[in-house]
Amino acid sequence: MKNIMFIAPPAAGKGTQAELVVQKYGLPHISTGDILREISKEDSELGNYVFETLASGKLVKDEITYQLIENRLAKDDCKNGYIIDGFPRNIEQAIEYDKIIKKLGYDIGNVILINIDEKTLEKRITGRRICENCKAIYNINDEASSPKVESICDNCGGKLYQRNDDNLESFKTRYQMYKEKTEPIIEYYRDKKVLKEVNGEDTVENVFKKIDKIISE
Ligand code: AMP
Repeated sequence: MKNIMFIAPPAAGKGTQAELVVQKYGLPHISTGDILREISKEDSELGNYVFETLASGKLVKDEITYQLIENRLAKDDCKNGYIIDGFPRNIEQAIEYDKIIKKLGYDIGNVILINIDEKTLEKRITGRRICENCKAIYNINDEASSPKVESICDNCGGKLYQRNDDNLESFKTRYQMYKEKTEPIIEYYRDKKVLKEVNGEDTVENVFKKIDKIISE
């Protein structure tokens, strides 16, 4: 199966969509945000740096992400396809990613861009809640995506938490980072003829239908 890369502004639903792809196709989901959130819990100089950077909404230094991505993609479970979410996030990372996949003998696969309006994102960011156990994602600002019982995961009964960068202040920086640093990679992949665009202003199910059509073609 082809590899899948997601590009989307913060809270556009790429994590949710990636999980739906995992459920249907069983590909490993590699999210630099998830990996960095784990590192941010470590009591070390690196852990503290990552914690502060994530909370501010800025990007962590490129060099930190390269090693982490290369090590993860080299694992056996990626050999038959994977979903990459949150990387690359700027042109330098896109160029480095080309080198990493060349070294590992992988193809870019499908690059899926989820387009969505800034106002929708603001609404989603403050309502997002995540299960600390199974990582399922909910949104309390949207009835269809709310958990049945407040703060409890429908899937596994785990406790739901709010990311500490899911507030309006961090969102502004994260969105600005996306516009300034990440958007230029869209042209980079359009030129390589691997970019597929999806309108994210729809229900989770409908967005997934469009993504599923792209990846099963
Ligand atoms: P995400 O879960 O994709 O929204 O990422 C959360 C945060 O992790 C971002 O706001 C950045 O601070 C950091 N991050 C994730 N991926 C990268 C990356 N590829 N390069 C630099 N920072 C990243």
